[in-house]
Amino acid sequence: MRSSDHAAVNLSIVIPCFNEELVLPRTAERIAGVLEDLCLRGRIRRSSRIFLVDDGSGDSTWRIIEQLTDDGWPIVGIKLSRNRGHQHALLAGLHQADGDAVISMDADLQHDPAAIEPMLDEYLNGHDVVLGIRKSRTAESWFKRTSGTLYYRMLKGMGVDIVPEHADYRLLSRRAIAALRQFGETELFLRGIIPQLGFPTAKIHYQQAERAAGESKYSLAKMLGLAIQGVTSFSAAPLRFITLLGVLVSIASLGFSAYALWIRLLTDTALPGWASTVVPMYFLGGIQLLCLGIIGEYLSKIYIETKRRPAYIIEKVHAGEPRPSRTPSRRHRAAREAVAG
Ligand code: UDP
Ligand code: MG
Repeated sequence: MRSSDHAAVNLSIVIPCFNEELVLPRTAERIAGVLEDLCLRGRIRRSSRIFLVDDGSGDSTWRIIEQLTDDGWPIVGIKLSRNRGHQHALLAGLHQADGDAVISMDADLQHDPAAIEPMLDEYLNGHDVVLGIRKSRTAESWFKRTSGTLYYRMLKGMGVDIVPEHADYRLLSRRAIAALRQFGETELFLRGIIPQLGFPTAKIHYQQAERAAGESKYSLAKMLGLAIQGVTSFSAAPLRFITLLGVLVSIASLGFSAYALWIRLLTDTALPGWASTVVPMYFLGGIQLLCLGIIGEYLSKIYIETKRRPAYIIEKVHAGEPRPSRTPSRRHRAAREAVAG
C-alpha cells in the first residue's frame, strides 16, 4: 500500500488533441465530472488536473481549451508548436503533468472514463503501471481490427514485448515517468517502451466505445508510420532477415554454379558463353546479399547503441540502518584487540 492511501492522490489526466473541436467540450466535461466525483469522495486531491495537449490543430481546439481553462475548469492547456503526432503529444503531456499518478487517454471518449477509478485503485495497491486493455473492438472497423491483431502478432513474432489490445490508455506513477525520461529516443513507440520499464504492472479491462464525435485523426499514413516505428524501434529482425537471405542465396548460387559447370564441362548441351555468364551472376548475387546482411548486422548494433537507452532502471534500493556493533571496522578492531590482549 502506498502512503498516498492516507493523503489523497494528486491525479493528472493527459489527453492529446488533434483537431478535436467537435468532441473536446464533451470529453472535458465528462472527465472533469469523474475528477470532481473522486475529489468529493476524498480519493484524489483538489489539485488534480486534466492536461489537454493541442498537437498543432488547425481548427478551434486551442480556443476551446483556453475557454475551458478561463471558465475555471480544472484544465491545463499545452499547445505544441506544430503537429508532431499522437505519441509526441502524449509524451509532452506526461512530462508536463505534475500528478503522483498520470493517466493518458484519447480525446474521443473511446477510452472508457469509468476505468479511471479502477486504475487509481491498482495504483494505490502498489502498481506503477496500469494498462487499459480493450475487451472487444467491435466499435472499430473490420480493417482496423484485423490489421491491428495481425500487427500485434507480427511484433510478438519478432520478439517485441508488447501487450495485445492495449493502446495508450494507461496509468503511470511518477517514478515510471521518471524512468521513461531516461529513454533518450525521440522517435517513440510508447506501447513498446512501457513493458521495458518493468515495475509492478496491473491490467484493467474496459469496453472500447465508438468515437463520441468527429472523425479518426489517425490517417492511414499515420497508422503505417506508427506501425513501422513499432518494428524499427524494437527489432533488428528485418536486418537479420537480409543476412539469412544472403546465406541462403549464397548456398543456392554455389549449387547453381556447380550445375552450370557440370553442364559446361561434362555435357555437350551447353551454349557458348552461358556458363561464364550465369556462374558469376549467381555467385555475385549471393555474395552481395551476404555483404548487405553483414553491413546490416553492424548497422543494427549502431542502431541499438545510438538509442542510448538506459542499461537498467532501479526499482528500489533497500538498505538497513547499520548498527555500530555490526560494522566491520568495529568487529575487526575487537578481533585485533582480542588477539593482542
Ligand atoms: N492525435 C494527436 N495527434 C495526431 C493524431 C491523433 O494528438 O496527429 C490524438 C487524437 O486527438 C486522439 C488520439 O490521438 O486523442 C487518438 O486518435 P484517434 O482517436 O483519431 O485514433 P483512432 O482511435 O481512430 O485510432
Ligand atoms: Mg479514437
